[in-house]
Amino acid sequence: MDYNATTPVDPRVLEAMIPYFCDIFGNASSANHKYGWEAEEAVSRSRRNVADLIGASPKDIIFTAGSTEANNIAIKGVAEVYAEKGNHIITCTTEHKAIIETCQCLESKGVETTYLNVDEFGLIDLDELKNAINDRTILVTIMAANNEIGTLQPVEEIGKICREKGVLFHTDATQSVGKIPVNVESMNIDLMSISAHKFYGPKGVGALYVRSKNPRVKVSKQTHGGSQEKGIRSGTLNVPGIVGFGKACELSIAEMEIEVKKHIKYRDKIIDALTKLENVYLNGHSSKRLTNNINVSIGLLDIDLLLGEMKDIAVSTGSACTSASMAPSHVLTAIGRSDELGRSSLRVSFGRFTTEEEIDYVTEKLVATINKLRKESPVYNMAKEGII
Ligand SMILES: *Cc1c(COP(=O)(O)O)cnc(C)c1O
Repeated sequence: MDYNATTPVDPRVLEAMIPYFCDIFGNASSANHKYGWEAEEAVSRSRRNVADLIGASPKDIIFTAGSTEANNIAIKGVAEVYAEKGNHIITCTTEHKAIIETCQCLESKGVETTYLNVDEFGLIDLDELKNAINDRTILVTIMAANNEIGTLQPVEEIGKICREKGVLFHTDATQSVGKIPVNVESMNIDLMSISAHKFYGPKGVGALYVRSKNPRVKVSKQTHGGSQEKGIRSGTLNVPGIVGFGKACELSIAEMEIEVKKHIKYRDKIIDALTKLENVYLNGHSSKRLTNNINVSIGLLDIDLLLGEMKDIAVSTGSACTSASMAPSHVLTAIGRSDELGRSSLRVSFGRFTTEEEIDYVTEKLVATINKLRKESPVYNMAKEGII
């Protein structure tokens, strides 16, 4: 129940990868022999699979080690290339750390960042975006789907605004690509980050989409070396990983429609059961939401006690990256949750291999455990009686 942190590799993905470790092990850059050609052929096929999933041209796909690297190349790469044009970037307060920390890094080098606020559902305001764009703005980077609360930003409208204003648009689409339809043409996306391990591919591989025409987008290299990936991202390609990534894309294209329907049903079943309870609040939007994400704040309950009672269920509190720190997640703070409700949040996320029986088990166990802990809790009972 923590698929938003990572997913298991689909067995069909693993099967596609296996030959590329020992048998077809060539370096895709070796142009002089069959080993290299075979590896290069496999990389090319995967490049097409990734491009097909997002409606792009294969030549616009730059393979990376995942979304963190893709986000870094996109933001730093654009800031460097377009430094003459301007030094202003627009993002929002609920982005992943890989975006926020990259922007902060650039701020120390003279780039200005505007962090758009979000409303109670985690959505940015399109008028605020329009007003924030000025003649020094070079990039807008807004995530497609939030990793903690599942909110889907209006990517298409953001793309339209950026295109009209002549500003580049990057989106961290790590949580949406492979799960819901994403199309770089209809959404006017100029740069986009993708990660294989969030949709049944292997860890440590992903891509940055960089539009090559209408407009032609340039990013500067962040890794110097053998000039792989158009010189943008040097380093010997992770051929087995890339083959797995391609297979994961192919499977998503084939299975997305059925999965979306099934997952919305599962998601809403859990949300309905939890929000029927007193003092349980849904974080994020009820419909503009990832199909596999549930995030609630459970008032008047010690979340660690709850986790302790459900050791057979893997869920997360806050986001996986910040769960070691005690501060409430920056995303929950941004949507206006109090520190108390921010700290008592629970994210449940599932996916391809989750069965309806498992959904029912988790739902029943969560409801029963919350009720039991509250019955035993003096704080809860005093609060109910209005004593505190
Ligand atoms: C997981 C995630 C990342 C990081 O991706 P990696 O491929 O693990 O580096 C970035 N952004 C979002 C929204 C994510 O969910």
